[in-house]
Amino acid sequence: MSEAVLYIVATPIGNLSDLSPRALEVLGSVDRVAAEDTRHSGRLLAHFNIKAPMISVHDHNERQRAELIIEHLRNGESVALVSDAGTPLISDPGFVLVRAVREAGFRVSPVPGCCAFIAALCASGLPSDRFLFEGFLPAKSGARLQRLKALASESPTLVFYESTHRILASLADMAEAFGGERYAVVARELTKTFETIQGGTLTELLAWIEQDPMQQKGEFVVLVQGAPQSVADNIDGEALRILHLLAEELPPKKAAGLAASITGLKKNQLYQALIGRSE
Ligand code: SAM
Repeated sequence: MSEAVLYIVATPIGNLSDLSPRALEVLGSVDRVAAEDTRHSGRLLAHFNIKAPMISVHDHNERQRAELIIEHLRNGESVALVSDAGTPLISDPGFVLVRAVREAGFRVSPVPGCCAFIAALCASGLPSDRFLFEGFLPAKSGARLQRLKALASESPTLVFYESTHRILASLADMAEAFGGERYAVVARELTKTFETIQGGTLTELLAWIEQDPMQQKGEFVVLVQGAPQSVADNIDGEALRILHLLAEELPPKKAAGLAASITGLKKNQLYQALIGRSE
């Protein structure tokens, strides 16, 4: 009997050709497919002529279904977890299941593929070296604005999921929390017929989407440029303390020069930090 494995299988986010050959192979070979919505995923499996029995796993039954799936694994059966679209666990169920299966001593193996926010980030032109994936914002405006304000000074690119119902309200709240001049990108209907990736300030994007009802429809990833980092953020605390002590007695250029000799840091970097420059 081959080893029983829980596979985490990414499925397309719109374009069915994005299902990888390995995903097809795994879905075709497992004993059961666990899915968030068995009707929805059933159509995907039927399209590829895959007939594995299905188990429904959603936010409300995940704990109990984890026990059932562990039973299947104990019986030597392999299981694949899929979600409605993209990568399971990313703003989708699966975390409770994966943890329980690993704790029960079974292997969990990823079959990677589509993920809406990775696709959006890669095509956005925004910095991708550091990003903060926030998933869905709270549905209620008060809580949403509070969350956004807490993110206002974060410097990595901010990444959000949004639905057709709340895209306008969320963009309006982002403009309020981050300022309407902050640059952002809205990625809509990725990999589908009406794929649109539009960049602009939050004020511009809001106006653009408001005046075109077509742009309000579908699935969205919203990416917001991170807050500009001040030069001082990259300087060690002790060096900053020395710099500020010297600046109390000396003009900025002299203080920066002396601090550079003491700390070994660059004079210009210390000077920029002193005058509060952003990078
Ligand atoms: N697990 C999925 C993934 O890997 O991206 C995300 C699931 S989450 C429940 C659904 C959200 O993902 C949508 O509301 C939208 O924000 C985003 N999304 C999914 N497909 C998309 C697409 N084709 N274009 C843009 N955003 C998409």
